[in-house]
Amino acid sequence: MIIVMKPGSTKKDLEAVIKKVKELGFKAHTITGVERTVIGAVGDERGKHKLQTLETIDSVEKVIEILQSFKLASLEFKKEPTVVKVGGAVFGGDHFGVIAGPCSVESEKQMLDAAIGVKKAGAKMLRGGAFKPRTSPYAFQGLEKEGLKILAKAREETGLPFVTEVVNPEDVELVGEYADVFQIGARNCQNFSLLKRVGRFGKPALLKRGLSTTIQEFLMSAEYILSEGCTELVLCERGIRTFETSTRNTLDISAVPVIRSLSHLPIIIDPSHATGVRKYIAPLCYASMAVGADGLMIEVHPDPQNALCDGPQSLKIEDFAALMKKLKELSKFSGKKI
Ligand code: PEP
Ligand code: MN
Repeated sequence: MIIVMKPGSTKKDLEAVIKKVKELGFKAHTITGVERTVIGAVGDERGKHKLQTLETIDSVEKVIEILQSFKLASLEFKKEPTVVKVGGAVFGGDHFGVIAGPCSVESEKQMLDAAIGVKKAGAKMLRGGAFKPRTSPYAFQGLEKEGLKILAKAREETGLPFVTEVVNPEDVELVGEYADVFQIGARNCQNFSLLKRVGRFGKPALLKRGLSTTIQEFLMSAEYILSEGCTELVLCERGIRTFETSTRNTLDISAVPVIRSLSHLPIIIDPSHATGVRKYIAPLCYASMAVGADGLMIEVHPDPQNALCDGPQSLKIEDFAALMKKLKELSKFSGKKI
């Protein structure tokens, strides 16, 4: 339910309503807009009718039911686009944020070469996996804590914030100690205990769409994170499982306008995991910008041929630099600042 406060209501009025919401057993999420302040009351659906009684409070204008099954993620709750800003990287509104870096952290030299290269080319955030959710238990699993330390060193050297994946709920504290943004990978899109732990931590998060999750389910996963208090969440479309085999997954580019019509959250595209093929990355980056995405996550490696993970889809640094140049030109027409 959304509780709309009357124009001119005071902070004290707001606090009194929030107190009532909590007494009724709901969590209160407040948005203070220029024109109006609203409280999103979320909790056990079965008791929602009790919230209707708040309409009798003088400072309350009205109580409206959110019809979508996701609530805090919905446009009904928040009409203005959410803009997530982490250091110089901005996603949402009229901003287009580019995240780049290798699939996984392999060594200090590899990560620093990648970080310096992508920064020079114009990336605003670094990526790199320290905990890798590999399909095979025999594949490289990541450097774990050592990888996080290397990422922190790369941040120190370049000033770029970094996003890195957290795979297990038990590692949220450790990853949160180092990372600027938590990444929740496609395979964990519906790992609800992980979503909740990340949502509670108090740092921004990037949620990837699951291999077979519908947009509705994807937004319900986002809701898990938001319902725990996180307000800085970026969604990432990274391709879905279809019958097509010429690409690793099928990039659902329509997810961008569909999500835009349902949610205020920024949505970016990862063409690297969507295709698995280097030569398809650039055209899909252009398409992402044209369709109105809020940014990109691109795998870039200083030596893709010898990468321990996802070499065939990783761009060389010079290819990434050329791509960024083109994207900057295209951004003149997209209406978003890159
Ligand atoms: C990744 O970005 O490192 C990754 C593993 O991607 P996904 O979760 O989309 O497969
Ligand atoms: Mn990868």
